[in-house]
Amino acid sequence: MKPAPFEYEAPTSLDAALDLMARHGADAKLLAGGQSLIPVMNFRLAEPALLVDINRVAELDFLRQDADGTLRIGALTRQRRLERDPLVAKVAPLLHEAVPFIAHPQIRNRGTFGGSLAHADPAAELPALAVALGARLRLRRKGGDRWVDAADFFAGLFTTALEPEEILVEAAIPPAPPRTGWAFLEIARRHGDYAQAGIAARVTLDESGRCREARLVYLSAGDAPVQAREAARLLAGQELSEAAIEAAAEKASRDEIHPPGDVHSTPEFKRHLARVLTRRALRKAAERAREAA
Ligand SMILES: Cc1cc2nc3c(=O)[nH]c(=O)nc-3n(C[C@H](O)[C@H](O)[C@H](O)COP(=O)(O)OP(=O)(O)OC[C@H]3O[C@@H](n4cnc5c(N)ncnc54)[C@H](O)[C@@H]3O)c2cc1C
Repeated sequence: MKPAPFEYEAPTSLDAALDLMARHGADAKLLAGGQSLIPVMNFRLAEPALLVDINRVAELDFLRQDADGTLRIGALTRQRRLERDPLVAKVAPLLHEAVPFIAHPQIRNRGTFGGSLAHADPAAELPALAVALGARLRLRRKGGDRWVDAADFFAGLFTTALEPEEILVEAAIPPAPPRTGWAFLEIARRHGDYAQAGIAARVTLDESGRCREARLVYLSAGDAPVQAREAARLLAGQELSEAAIEAAAEKASRDEIHPPGDVHSTPEFKRHLARVLTRRALRKAAERAREAA
């Protein structure tokens, strides 16, 4: 199918893009990599009167580290750059490990960090990662901006805290504490497909080797990234033994996720996958945290 007719603007500065969004609001849509928006328009699930193409807004395309270790990622940063840039591998290895699971290289060449977060597909990797990494997201409108925690940004199925005239401009990812380990795992029918189940896990040990903090964030497990807070609480203060890991995996997969069924898998099967992935991810994250100690 073809999209409904639309007007097109391609501003070259953020101010010009913000000005267009302020004037057109809900009638306009931002075009980043187009890897989700264009199919949605072709199916006529979206019929924006105006496309504001931000691909020429160079100030949104950056990756840098602040003096305090915070990693800052501009919204227009391509997913391929996240996969390959040594800074990401060094500062946010969880992100580095997970990005190759997003679709295929051709899609990652175009798809952007901000586009994936704004699209808010509950099966997408980057929203779950943003929550697991404790990212803060900067949303700008003409004449103002605000920061929102990733955990509060995802409001439901393809829904975020973004107002129609706002642009997501960047994410700030705080440095991981010492003795932190991580793992990203997912199961898809074919490599590059959206995951049937997936988890971003992070654990931080205290000086005695017990778990100080754990984060377990699931994709394809509800209407948005799902953080299993109770399961994480079970791990706090514990040695990351097989029994503790099993208890957390059981808690998260039974009580905290709400996976939808689809043509390939029932919710029960997805819970099973999540349980198995949680065990594996926690073992791997614990091992990495011990190595970092
Ligand atoms: C065949 C195929 C397979 C895929 N598989 C996966 C997969 O396995 N995992 C996965 O995570 N993704 C997958 N994707 C989606 C891909 O990752 C997209 O790149 C991503 O979801 C959207 O990023 P984009 O830059 O292309 O955004 P666009 O498609 O340009 O935009 C998406 C939405 O975000 C809005 N938007 C874009 N940028 C901003 C911004 N800075 N501020 C506010 N709103 C903004 C747009 O207006 C639009 O509503 C797949 C896509 C295809 C075509």
